[in-house]
Amino acid sequence: MSQRPGFPVKLAKTGASGPSGKVPSALPVRSVQTPTALAPRVASSVSGLGLDSGAVRARMVRKLAEQGVKDTRVLDAMGVVERHRFVESALVNQAYEDTSLPIGLGQTISKPNVVARMVELLCQDAPGKLGRILEIGTGCGYQAAVLSHVATEVYSIERLRGLHEKARTNLRPFRLHNVHLIFGDGMLGYPKGAPYAGIISAAGGDAVPDTWLDQLAVGGRLIAPTITPAGHQALVVILKTAQGFERQVLEAVHFVPLKSGVA
Ligand code: SAH
Repeated sequence: MSQRPGFPVKLAKTGASGPSGKVPSALPVRSVQTPTALAPRVASSVSGLGLDSGAVRARMVRKLAEQGVKDTRVLDAMGVVERHRFVESALVNQAYEDTSLPIGLGQTISKPNVVARMVELLCQDAPGKLGRILEIGTGCGYQAAVLSHVATEVYSIERLRGLHEKARTNLRPFRLHNVHLIFGDGMLGYPKGAPYAGIISAAGGDAVPDTWLDQLAVGGRLIAPTITPAGHQALVVILKTAQGFERQVLEAVHFVPLKSGVA
């Protein structure tokens, strides 16, 4: 049984029947993420975890659809990945609200709506599953887990060792064999997995590094928060074609900064 914090008992009242089979077979997790004070509550609520969180996720997915997310690959992935397993126990109650949450070391996990929007942009115009994807900024590993359901391989790179390790711990129970976590500076991309069908950055820089453009396959798409000439951060989509790059600037966003080097 999982030692992770259970999903709030009050949510059992939703009454919807989520597939309990989706609870991953859990491996022991590090004690640092399982405060002993929570243990009794965990023990009493863990049996209902799949049902409770499944219903709340289904509600989140309906909301995402109402907000304009259309791609069923993305909605399905958002419905499967247990976001509450990626946040600190004190924040489990907020895991399915449309809000960004702190994940430690001054970083944040994006709102579900922003994750869905970015993954949908990545999938746009690609039939079926995407090929190899590079994610810059693993953070807690949540978005990498979502990506693992829409792509054949996910390479995710993180510059903060503490978060790289946290993501490894968070993802272990899900046994996602197509997710490859790398500790390193994502500004350099990850040449070993290139060329990529898609590159998605969870951190915003002043410009898109040339290495990312080089490592993108022809026909591939890059989604990255970037500072625009107008001086604010916006989502930028770059399509690599045989003739060159097509660039689109979309809505304003607020992502943590893209930094160079590791720490
Ligand atoms: N996708 C993540 C979001 C993490 S926030 C999730 O689902 O949790 C963005 C992350 O980008 C932070 O963890 C930050 O440390 C990381 N980051 C910033 N600059 C980076 C770089 N050059 N290389 C790799 N990761 C970087």
